[in-house]
Amino acid sequence: MKYRRTISAVCLVAVLQAVLSGCSRKQSAEQMWLTMGTYATVTVPPREMHRIEECLNVATSLTARVENSLSLFMPDSDLSRLNASDGRTVAVNEDTRAILAMSIKYGELTDGCFDSTVTPLVRLWGFNKGNVPPVPPSAEAIHEALQKVGFRQIILSGNKAAFRAPGMEVDSGGIAKGYAVDLCHDELARRGVKNVMINVAGNLRVRGTSKGGRPWRIGVRDPFDRERLLGTLELPHGMAVSTSGNYERFVVIEGRRYAHIIDPRTGIPVEGMAGVTALCTTATEADAMSTALFVLGPAQAPSVLSRLPDCHALLVPDTQPLRILVTPGFRRYFTPVPDHADRLEDLP
Ligand code: FAD
Ligand code: MG
Repeated sequence: MKYRRTISAVCLVAVLQAVLSGCSRKQSAEQMWLTMGTYATVTVPPREMHRIEECLNVATSLTARVENSLSLFMPDSDLSRLNASDGRTVAVNEDTRAILAMSIKYGELTDGCFDSTVTPLVRLWGFNKGNVPPVPPSAEAIHEALQKVGFRQIILSGNKAAFRAPGMEVDSGGIAKGYAVDLCHDELARRGVKNVMINVAGNLRVRGTSKGGRPWRIGVRDPFDRERLLGTLELPHGMAVSTSGNYERFVVIEGRRYAHIIDPRTGIPVEGMAGVTALCTTATEADAMSTALFVLGPAQAPSVLSRLPDCHALLVPDTQPLRILVTPGFRRYFTPVPDHADRLEDLP
């Protein structure tokens, strides 16, 4: 049931993105497949149409590789094996090593707000194979789970990895889809595909331009109304986008809704944010940063963003009336829908 909901929700984004990028069936080619519990698409404009099958083959095989390496839903994945290592040092494959290195990097850059070791908390609150508890976890249970959280407790040396604290586990959910998109992007670039958009559930990256040499355009969905857009974003060559929201994955405990992104500082799901879109030079960074900025919120986001001059963002607090907070870099590429033009504010 949960799986079906994910597919249908993200398909709507796919449709919007296809429409906005001018991909009518006749003129552009788009192929979709299922991966990592969600959908993915690859799109090429008419002049690159002859390469769509090649793009699809490359992208399906690389996303399958990432899923086989990094899925927590597969007990025999490389990452599941590391998570079950119980403090022992184990050899990890190239994808796990990259994800651990990136997790440490973005953990440092975001003052720990991106922390892929949040797994015990994710499960405690009923996400990713956890059971949704009848009442919110107690302060003691959260405190206990927090003892197993901390990206600085990851030991990575060459292709060997271990955890310093017992019971630690890494969850790649906040970064691996972006990583997979970058792998596809880089391989297609190596093969000389000049114009393409790769999209894994809203984590996407473009090369070149869309139909008629126009920039790729995508819709940024309104977190309060999934059938509407906040606006459209024009994507320059090579850029990547990722959105994190409180509206697709959540649990309801005692009638209250809790989103799937956890503040690693408190152990509690983030409240007060509805959606974040990050525009960055790689999809891995966009994926990690959309999750981190969701935790940071408008007050703390600017100081972290100042460390990443090529990362731009849009933040929507979970308050009414609607506020759309954008960095100057994001504003350059973003056009709000007319209804929301007066809702746009500079991120202070
Ligand atoms: P994002 O904002 O990008 O990430 C949020 C996710 O990151 C959370 O769900 C949690 O897992 C983790 N997280 C929470 N807080 C933090 C934090 N502070 N810092 C870092 N990370 C945090 N789902 C299925 O239903 N079935 C599957 O078979 C399945 N397989 C998957 C395989 C792989 C390799 C991956 C990466 C994911 C898989 N998923 C699966 C999960 C799903 O597709 C999404 O990746 C995930 O639920 C959240 O992605 P998002 O883009 O919505 O949110
Ligand atoms: Mg993310």
